[in-house]
Amino acid sequence: MRIQHECLYCSKRLHGRTDKKYCDLHCKSAYQYQRSKESPERFYNKVDNQLKLNRKILKGYNKGGKVTVRSEVLLKLGFDPKFFTHYWKNKKGDVYLFVYEFGFFKIKEQGKEKYLLVKWQDYMV
Ligand SMILES: [Zn+2]
Repeated sequence: MRIQHECLYCSKRLHGRTDKKYCDLHCKSAYQYQRSKESPERFYNKVDNQLKLNRKILKGYNKGGKVTVRSEVLLKLGFDPKFFTHYWKNKKGDVYLFVYEFGFFKIKEQGKEKYLLVKWQDYMV
């Protein structure tokens, strides 16, 4: 079977070696320049999507009051604790991370890692 391939930049049909990706160096540098211009946007969307997913997951488990949930349950759903919007520190110095109005705080209960889920309160400002 022959695989047709084309230049990543100008989509012209390529001949010769199948590992060739561009017609020439001009297409290669033009393509890389174009990608580098798009990447801030891609990064923004990636973060934006992760925050939305995190919020959705926290919201789904946060049924009012203080809830604890095994961290692996959230992680399995795609929750990524590295992405949050802000934090709140209580008087004891515990730092709660928030994804918009839903917060989480890592705790250990009976040797299991869990998240304590809280909701943003007016006094946290
Ligand atoms: Zn080309």
